[in-house]
Amino acid sequence: MRDPSAGPRVLLRRLRELMAEPLEPQDRLDRIVRQIAQNMVAEVCSFYVLRADGVLELYATEGLNPGAVHLAQLKMGQGLVGTIAAGASSLNLSDAQSHPAFTYLPETGEEIYRSFLGVPILRAGRTLGVLVIQNKAMRNYREEELEALETIAMVLAEMIATGDLKKVTRPGLELDLSRPVTIDGSAYSDGIGLGHAVLHEPRIVVTELLNDDSDAELARLEDSIGSLRLSIDDMLSRRDMSMEGEHRAVLEAYRMFAHDRGWVRKLEEAIANGLTAEAAVEKVQSDMRARMIHMTDPYLRERLHDFDDLANRLLRQLTGFTAKAHHEDFPDSAIIVARAMGAADLLDYTRSKIRGLVLEEGSVTSHVVIVARAMGIAVVGQASGIASLTENGDPIIIDGDDGKVHLRPVADLERAYAEKVRFSARRQEQYRALRKVEPISRDGVNIALQMNAGLLVDLPQLKESGASGVGLFRTELQFMIASTMPKVDEQERFYRNVIRQAEGKPVTFRALDIGGDKVVPYFRAANEENPALGWRAMRLALDRPGILRMQLRALLRATAGQQLKLMFPMVTEISEFRQVRALLNKEVGHLSRFGYDLPRKVEVGAMLEVPSLMWQLDELMEEADFVSVGSNDLFQFTMAADRGNARVSSRFDPLGRTFLRVLRQIVVAADSWNTPLTLCGELAGRSLSAMALIGLGYRSISMSPAAIGPVKSMLLALDVKELEDLLLPALDENDPQYTIRKLLADFADTNGIPL
Ligand code: PEP
Ligand code: MG
Repeated sequence: MRDPSAGPRVLLRRLRELMAEPLEPQDRLDRIVRQIAQNMVAEVCSFYVLRADGVLELYATEGLNPGAVHLAQLKMGQGLVGTIAAGASSLNLSDAQSHPAFTYLPETGEEIYRSFLGVPILRAGRTLGVLVIQNKAMRNYREEELEALETIAMVLAEMIATGDLKKVTRPGLELDLSRPVTIDGSAYSDGIGLGHAVLHEPRIVVTELLNDDSDAELARLEDSIGSLRLSIDDMLSRRDMSMEGEHRAVLEAYRMFAHDRGWVRKLEEAIANGLTAEAAVEKVQSDMRARMIHMTDPYLRERLHDFDDLANRLLRQLTGFTAKAHHEDFPDSAIIVARAMGAADLLDYTRSKIRGLVLEEGSVTSHVVIVARAMGIAVVGQASGIASLTENGDPIIIDGDDGKVHLRPVADLERAYAEKVRFSARRQEQYRALRKVEPISRDGVNIALQMNAGLLVDLPQLKESGASGVGLFRTELQFMIASTMPKVDEQERFYRNVIRQAEGKPVTFRALDIGGDKVVPYFRAANEENPALGWRAMRLALDRPGILRMQLRALLRATAGQQLKLMFPMVTEISEFRQVRALLNKEVGHLSRFGYDLPRKVEVGAMLEVPSLMWQLDELMEEADFVSVGSNDLFQFTMAADRGNARVSSRFDPLGRTFLRVLRQIVVAADSWNTPLTLCGELAGRSLSAMALIGLGYRSISMSPAAIGPVKSMLLALDVKELEDLLLPALDENDPQYTIRKLLADFADTNGIPL
């Protein structure tokens, strides 16, 4: 019996030879389409390429009028070829002219051909062109012929992507692959980033497309799928079997895909047609992505992500790809592009080389964004589709001021942004000039402007920004970047270093706030359905006091002879605060028994970030030496809106009356107990919301270092009394038309306050 895949394999081999021959590009294309036509017993083979202007241009043909090459054109969605490109799916027609989308192009002379088989040329789910065969007779092309044509299309995709066609593209025209794209996202961290894209989850570029021995490739595939299935089973069984929730659902979905006969069969067919195992995975993944990318159903889109992840795992298995190798050719000005990302992942990159971060998801207060802001990196989130449009190394500009991402920007835009960068450097210069100016309002009210930090590299900014101290030192960041739990001595050295570098300015350390999305690699808690409401921060610390006691010991030793300011996150009940205080006292007792020097003074504060404390305000203000409002979490829990999920977190305004009333109540309680009060969430770092806080009575706020300059220049122009007189009565009103945000913006506008 004739081997049905022999034809495609011979053809692929011949195509590989053609690609290697020293031919003029157009000549090579002409020979390629001739080969395909001959091998597939077709009278016509045509190759269309998608241009940046959305037009499909005939680049080569065997059988149609040769004079139509580079002249015949169809728009996306127009004619059969445009329909294939727009839907990223093939058409197999025995009578093409009766298809409603059929458009007759007189220059091609194609009216005599009845049957038509066309496939999209895809790469990473994007359509780059269309490949068509035609015959005069009415015939149905077989499934194997369709498969074979799709496999050939993949080889052509590689040829387009490697830039081979540039030489035959008419001057002034661009191919779609290099099309400049602008995406409107959300501005999460100010600044402009110019550089080259680094895909956080890089697509593995398969360079060996064609196999020499299908049987050997099938065996490789079988091996890799086997280990993939085992690793998924292992992940599922390693965890507590009662585990429920999202994570398990994802793993179950992986398992389902990994055992899916349809998927495996498609992979085997692609190999039988002459592809290597990895090229087969890429082809099937690309087909699937192209078909599903237009779906809006969130459930199906999630499944597409799962499927992508699974295919990537398989590709990694097959190619032995490691992320480390990927980091080696890291550009000097890198813009990290990711669908979603954890804070710890960002800390893995070489900080000095990162100029920006683009996320398809995320929100202003998600931890990765906070960490990026602390690192002074521009961030744009909600940039939909960016990960699949980007190729590693693409030039990219991100604008963290207005939330735009420009991928492969045109030269003019690049020039304009370079100018914008120079301008903002000048503005930074002006802010720097303010750093020695006292933070006093126009009517003489002094406001402590402190900065948030978490790593040693943040500390030089204390001097540069002119902040009066560190109002929030997120100690967990140090734990998140370590691969093993830092020992007491290491922690002590680290805290000592922090204090030394602060050069006498006060530092408020926050005890470990891990759990939730703040993952430390060596401490894996069980997966939780609602990690933000789960076993985290104080809850974890009180149940497993060993970790906290080590940290307290290190902090006490590091501040010997000086003052220790320490606060605890996520306090929910006053009794918890009492318990940690008792733990601290125990550590003090322990150290003094062993003859250690102790801090001269210890101030113990509580973070107010769980709404339950609103009904324990008096006890809190009485017992805590100071209170710091964590507005990120307090807002999330007050509004029941996940801070990491933009769809819900941007639904409610932290400057709306509801939340401002909460914030005001805290000021009133603190004032009546004379308890020092600070606010250290992201609200403090935007000039408008910082102004609102001052109007509510906050006299100490802590923000990212880059925000100190802008907030100070707002403060210098502000009359606090006037603002209070306007804002406080407005809290009691209930005017839905005139929001407080608008009231504040108008106030700033009429009083010439820079925001
Ligand atoms: C907060 O919740 O506002 C806060 C400052 O802590 P984090 O952002 O680290 O949770
Ligand atoms: Mg918090």
